[in-house]
Amino acid sequence: MTLHSHLRREVHYGRVVSAHSDRPGTVLDMLSAAVASAPERTAVVDGALRLTYAEVDGHVATCAAALASYGVKAGDRVALLLANRADVLVLMLAAARIGAITVPMNIRQKPPETAYALNASGAILLCHEAGLAGELPLPEDVPALRHCIAVDDDLRIWQHAAVQREPAEAEPSEEMPFCILYTSGTTGRPKGALITHLGVLTSVLGAQQTLGLEDGEVTVMPVPASHITGIVLQLMLTLRVAGTLILMREFKARRFLEIASREGMTFTSMVPAMYVLCLMDDAYDSFDLSHWRVGTFGGAPMPDSVIADLARRNPALRLSNIYGATETTSPAVIMPAAETAERSHQVGRPLPYCELLIMDDEGREVPRGQQGEIWIAGPMVIPCYWNDPEATASAFVGGHWRSGDIGSLDEDGFLQLFDRKKDMINRGGFKIYSVEVENVLASHPSVIEVGVVGRPCPVLGERSEAFVYVREAIADDALRAYCAARLSDYKIPDAFTILSEALPRNANGKLLKTALREQAMARLQKTGTAAS
Ligand code: AMP
Repeated sequence: MTLHSHLRREVHYGRVVSAHSDRPGTVLDMLSAAVASAPERTAVVDGALRLTYAEVDGHVATCAAALASYGVKAGDRVALLLANRADVLVLMLAAARIGAITVPMNIRQKPPETAYALNASGAILLCHEAGLAGELPLPEDVPALRHCIAVDDDLRIWQHAAVQREPAEAEPSEEMPFCILYTSGTTGRPKGALITHLGVLTSVLGAQQTLGLEDGEVTVMPVPASHITGIVLQLMLTLRVAGTLILMREFKARRFLEIASREGMTFTSMVPAMYVLCLMDDAYDSFDLSHWRVGTFGGAPMPDSVIADLARRNPALRLSNIYGATETTSPAVIMPAAETAERSHQVGRPLPYCELLIMDDEGREVPRGQQGEIWIAGPMVIPCYWNDPEATASAFVGGHWRSGDIGSLDEDGFLQLFDRKKDMINRGGFKIYSVEVENVLASHPSVIEVGVVGRPCPVLGERSEAFVYVREAIADDALRAYCAARLSDYKIPDAFTILSEALPRNANGKLLKTALREQAMARLQKTGTAAS
């Protein structure tokens, strides 16, 4: 077990938490340290572009000046609708340098989703993929937005920045927001999780020490830089160890294996489906993955057979499950690699600074071994949702985040996950809150009512199915197209069951999702295909 640096009790956001006593001041200090220790080392690889730490630092300074010249000040929000490109890292650091807050968004979003995040965050500047210009909301739908800047491989954000003026450097402090991430929730209204410097630094130190990461790790990043895992376990963790970050715009197993072997990848964080797809590649064993020492997975359960297969084919690989969420700034629980095979039914042990409780519905801790809702506290737990006291009040109790996940702790303090209290489908790590999809489908004129449930899939863990009670006959494709105009592609139901009768409900009128799940399962078993 790797030693953690000393922890002490501190007060943050009115909560008493155990924090690392020796930690960088802000995310920017990690950049300064990397620039000082390894200025000529490759910091980021983005296709043909390779930037050293010194170059990243220069671009960050240029972009900070550019943002200031656009009128961005400390506390302002800068939205990003960008693929995994070097510009994301540069912009997040540049905004932080002037005390501004980035709002990274997923490029699979549709205009109504983007408009929601822009309006809720009050972003004044949006930097987007040039290729997504047609996917932006109309200007009248986002009144607070003042500037839109398009970037692509020929015109990077720092090339836009023809600004000579020195920026008014803010002095960010660790409790200040670093970014805001919009996550959907069980109310169907996305909430802006406020990620602070302190949260990021805590999670980065916790992961680095538990996983035993060393100076100069080489990592390949196929998970999106708009999600907390990508931001913490890849962008920021790599910065912390002055490592080399190789960005992938989209995950393709063969391409990932080619890059990992060519660049001598030592570490990566992926969702289970990505490991599954890599192992399914016939050429897997022909790639040189001998440098690969550390691999983490999370966001969704990993099949036992995949853990065993990886251990057989990559004996040097230390594999760890990581459990966490946007609200816990990623890792809250990590499985020590030595325990991964033996304890594949569990997700790991809470990090030393993480207080994890298992609570019953009345808010009482349950005895060891029993199941209850997982509540999490610590310096990495977000202080609040942006501008949303109502959502904050219902999700947090005394500094503990109520996860909506059901779990139990064993005598050795290892956490096992069971069901979920929240109505959410985990599609290969991408979370789909049923109510969000149901709201969209319910707004279709032909639809009377709808229920969306998950069904098992061997590759993605779960896929979604919509049961739709309609007024008049309608084709699946029409409903699919209706969703596609309003929802990110992964939220579009994988299957539709169109019904001419009402959905099953209990005596109180509550929709019986269990009955829908059983129907979906029965259909799968009949057709013998769990993957479709
Ligand atoms: P997100 O905010 O998108 O990171 O989603 C967080 C949710 O993902 C958690 O509340 C869990 O339901 C699920 N999750 C996170 N880590 C794991 C894991 N290691 N295994 C299974 N489910 C997980």
